[in-house]
Amino acid sequence: MSEEILTAETETRANFITHIIDEDLASGKHNNVYTRFPPEPNGYLHIGHAKSICLNFGIAQEYNGKCNLRFDDTNPVKEDVEYVDSIKRDVEWLGFKWEGEPRYASDYFDQLYGYAIELINKGVAYVCELSPEEMREYRGTLTEPGKNSPYRDRSVEENLALFEKMKNGEFAEGKASLRAKIDMASPFIVMRDPVLYRVKFASHHQTGDKWCIYPMYDFTHCISDAIERITHSICTLEFQDNRRLYDWILENISIQRPLPHQYEFSRLNLEGTLTSKRKLLKLVTDGIVDGWNDPRMPTISGLRRRGYTPAALREFCRRIGVTKQDNVVEYSALEACIREDLNENAPRAMAVINPVRVVIENFGEKEILKAPNHPNRPELGERDLPFTREIYIDEADFREEANKQYKRLVLGKEVRLRNAYVIKAERVEKDASGQITTIFCTYDSETLGKNPSDGRKVKGVIHWVSAEDNKPAEFRIYDRLFTVANPSAAEDLNEVLNPQSLVVKHGFVEPSLANAKAEQGYQFEREGYFCLDSKDGSKDNLVFNLTVNLKESVAF
Ligand code: ATP
Ligand code: MG
Repeated sequence: MSEEILTAETETRANFITHIIDEDLASGKHNNVYTRFPPEPNGYLHIGHAKSICLNFGIAQEYNGKCNLRFDDTNPVKEDVEYVDSIKRDVEWLGFKWEGEPRYASDYFDQLYGYAIELINKGVAYVCELSPEEMREYRGTLTEPGKNSPYRDRSVEENLALFEKMKNGEFAEGKASLRAKIDMASPFIVMRDPVLYRVKFASHHQTGDKWCIYPMYDFTHCISDAIERITHSICTLEFQDNRRLYDWILENISIQRPLPHQYEFSRLNLEGTLTSKRKLLKLVTDGIVDGWNDPRMPTISGLRRRGYTPAALREFCRRIGVTKQDNVVEYSALEACIREDLNENAPRAMAVINPVRVVIENFGEKEILKAPNHPNRPELGERDLPFTREIYIDEADFREEANKQYKRLVLGKEVRLRNAYVIKAERVEKDASGQITTIFCTYDSETLGKNPSDGRKVKGVIHWVSAEDNKPAEFRIYDRLFTVANPSAAEDLNEVLNPQSLVVKHGFVEPSLANAKAEQGYQFEREGYFCLDSKDGSKDNLVFNLTVNLKESVAF
């Protein structure tokens, strides 16, 4: 990676949240920094989560503080341990370490229940028997105040007894809920007697069948933060209004002080991609992609399978910064990060994706040439490259006729084979349809690693693979999944799918790639950056994913 990137890895860029932390530490409001990353285990993490992970864990690193991984698991119906496991894997792969064991909001269900009782005892929570539809009607709108529930003024004793009944499974789903008694006329709808607990007869991935009432996100999140002694609770802007409820709940319960404070930043929106687990799940369940880690998915696991590195994703998050402004980041900004990383670090290799056969008529016995693994990093060593009488070059690298702009192989002209000799195209052989099947060439044996001695200028360089000593390979050439910059706005995702988002090609790679490791990036010279697919690729079945093109591609 470039120097800029290397230094960047060790520092979180200053932003409005780090300024607040600096002030809190200077004023003595806090003497430590404790953050958390709180995913709901209802899907795989995506690039937006990477931003939140880098921010929360990055701040903890920067300030010598701590960061918890906490599963916000209050909705058992949509959650699964498969997601819990994938989230842990992704956070670790990104290079972060959480404090102690992962936490679960469900670890606190007993305590949460106790705090609910405390609110009832204080007369600021009640059991409401309005149906969900009635509750919606009573809630009012942004322009009209809501009205009080007829159950709002129940006595503490009655509420305690009814909440107990809820807990014991004596109410059907939707028949009763526990609500905070705040203000049905509040300009903030979240403050209009929000639901704290609902009845749900569902098995939970952590607590099994212990509970049939589950706490709501707003009730759970702030209390979990306070239990864990989080100092700065960082979330995205859509929770701005909820901060009032966050503070209200904590102020009304007898939990340890100082209380955590919530800060909001703008979510990452990435051009051409969906960053909603719900929508990504639909792509998976509809079979549009090959699972959550399909290399076209903006998930961390998809980007990983595609060949992205943790360093590139961290650098991307650093570059986009943290603000309160809503914005959409160009996809090319993400690609630039992995391209810079791989340009610096990926070994070079040769692969021919659209092969055409070349016969070098004046060449004799196979020779083993040497090729450097990286043009400017001799410490990365070199590899053996078999050169034989028959080789493959790419179809696009030969023309029977061409103007001077075309610096590849042309009939009657010369070109250099990368890491090898200069060859000259003498004649071609075609099949019945006119398709070129073989290009017959001669080579100049005096041109290995040097220019022709008589001063002939050979400008072009093309890549090649021996036709006698190679490995067959599949190449998965990926492009954007959608044809539009904002797929979330599409009514039907099927209408904006890019039919060319995956094109499969079969060609050949140099034999050294038989030892390619999954996820290790290579630059296939003149073609792009590729990595062995971690799912379908193996020593005996080389399948390479296109990570990113060599040059920036056109935007939408
Ligand atoms: P989704 O809509 O994809 O389900 P979410 O916000 O519901 O996202 P959570 O699992 O609740 O997903 O998110 C965990 C953390 O990641 C939260 O703090 C959330 O604010 C943050 N986060 C989620 N999406 C983004 C994003 N696009 N940009 C930045 N942070 C995000
Ligand atoms: Mg969520």
